[in-house]
Amino acid sequence: MAKIVCVLYDDPVDGYPKSYARDDLPHIDHYPDGQTLPTPKAIDFQPGALLGSVTGELGLRKYLESLGHTFIVTSSKDGPDSVLERELPDTEIVISQPFWPAYLTAERIAKAPKLKLAITAGIGSDHVDLQAAIDRKITVAEVTYCNSISVAEHVVMMILGLVRNYIPSYQWVVKGGWNIADCVERSYDVEGMHVGTVAAGRIGLAVLRRLRPFDMHLHYYDRHRLPEATEKELGLIWHPTVEDMAKVCDVVTINAPLHPETEHLFNDALLAKMKRGAYLVNTARGKICDRDAIVRALESGRLAGYAGDVWFPQPAPKDHPWRSMPHHGMTPHISGSSLSAQTRYAAGTREILECWFEGRPIRDEYLIVDGGKLAGAGAHSYSAGNATAGSEEAANFSKAS
Ligand code: NDP
Repeated sequence: MAKIVCVLYDDPVDGYPKSYARDDLPHIDHYPDGQTLPTPKAIDFQPGALLGSVTGELGLRKYLESLGHTFIVTSSKDGPDSVLERELPDTEIVISQPFWPAYLTAERIAKAPKLKLAITAGIGSDHVDLQAAIDRKITVAEVTYCNSISVAEHVVMMILGLVRNYIPSYQWVVKGGWNIADCVERSYDVEGMHVGTVAAGRIGLAVLRRLRPFDMHLHYYDRHRLPEATEKELGLIWHPTVEDMAKVCDVVTINAPLHPETEHLFNDALLAKMKRGAYLVNTARGKICDRDAIVRALESGRLAGYAGDVWFPQPAPKDHPWRSMPHHGMTPHISGSSLSAQTRYAAGTREILECWFEGRPIRDEYLIVDGGKLAGAGAHSYSAGNATAGSEEAANFSKAS
């Protein structure tokens, strides 16, 4: 029987919810490209429940224990004394969400000789050293598409929030003010602006589709070009390089995976090529941006605003400069963990586990690494290598709290 360690974020500070704001979730048949939603044989949770925190357990305990497996759920993931690190020597499967990532560095993988499967309950497996997984023939799988639309909605919200100066205006209300001039001195319309996405995969394309009704000019940069019919339908302008796109855009949104090709892509040199007063929204991965270069660009006015929900490492230390830099609209990593998204990725995790234990193939679109190489979605969207360097700093969050 297997030992499975599942790393989840902590419950709400006022306790696991006893009731919810809404009674149900809308029914969705399939994703926009026709891919089916997760298809486990059964689920043991109520759709719409908080599944991503420790008490929610992704709704997996009943299923896994009925098969005789040991199921350990913890939020303790960083540093040598963490539950994750203590359990690694005889763990076969690690499940983790990108919001509260269980960093599986080469050193940790070396401490886990029985590890065979790393499941990302979400999208984005950069918290696993993919090169080490390839070398050790560990399967890495994620629940492709489960929260892509959730993130696309968040990106649109953040673009509008930055450009229209929403958060500072809200704060004036809370402070008891009526300071219209203070609110509007940095407020613009998005209509007529040029917006570009770095990567036009599931999220990037969904963002462009959602921004079209705002009468913005739509741009994208991606390694592979979209079908001509899609370009025509949305009036998209493709750019062969990120620099080419960044210099003409008023708003740039980053929607590429983090892998060696995209790590620190937005550095001082690229930011210097952007229009003065551009906005940058990054819900992809914190490390795609050079942390201090972003702060400098906001301080100098090169960027008029930066928003996103991804940081490096996660959780971000209390003194992370993105918490206090000017004109930001950061949240913790939440865009892909709405209650709607959790239902899908909990079901997708269950589907992957059922396939694993029943000896059935995991869907190709869920695979990132398999059989000692990049596979499925991973072969299309990632490059081999490691993007986990520096993740040990995540331990500083709990030390400081
Ligand atoms: P997709 O796989 O559908 O899209 C990724 C796109 O990135 C592909 O079109 C791929 O291009 C492109 N890409 C990869 N490398 C490069 C590169 N070097 N330059 C330009 N384009 C590149 O994934 P999603 O759209 O669903 O998700 C994208 C990322 O968003 C995830 O990997 C994850 O990091 C992040 N994410 C964040 C979430 C959150 O909660 N904040 C939740 C979900 C995802 P091609 O395949 O054509 O080579």
